[in-house]
Amino acid sequence: MSDDVLPNDNKIMRHARWGGVFRPNMECCRVGVSFKVGRGHDYRQCSKPVKVTRLVDGPSGPELIGYCGTHDPLARKKRESARADQWRAENAERQKRYAREAHIQRSQPAYRQALQKIADGADDPRRIAREVLEEFDALLSAAIGKAAA
Ligand SMILES: [Zn+2]
Repeated sequence: MSDDVLPNDNKIMRHARWGGVFRPNMECCRVGVSFKVGRGHDYRQCSKPVKVTRLVDGPSGPELIGYCGTHDPLARKKRESARADQWRAENAERQKRYAREAHIQRSQPAYRQALQKIADGADDPRRIAREVLEEFDALLSAAIGKAAA
């Protein structure tokens, strides 16, 4: 895994921002981090010590780049995919909740009709209630299934 050459990393600090000679501190992570200057920003090399070294494709062939734990490309990729998975799960959960709420809204007239039948002295209030509940459950699971897909 660590023998693979990673694609070019634009975050690697290779030049001084405003010309001049940039001599990287090889003890520290090579990623450029921005900091505020007046109303704008400038870059400096990350000040954290090197934790891992990765072979990265550079402008003149693969080069060995030291990274801190925060800026390690593989660790970042892992964190980002974990976050994306979490967002996907939360989104699916939210879609289910919306489908459920919308279904409850749509079902209100059917409840009212059933209650009205019972209030008017229907012969079999239990049957009416059972029918409404069965229809509600069937339509609800269909609505949630559609939202989850
Ligand atoms: Zn760093």
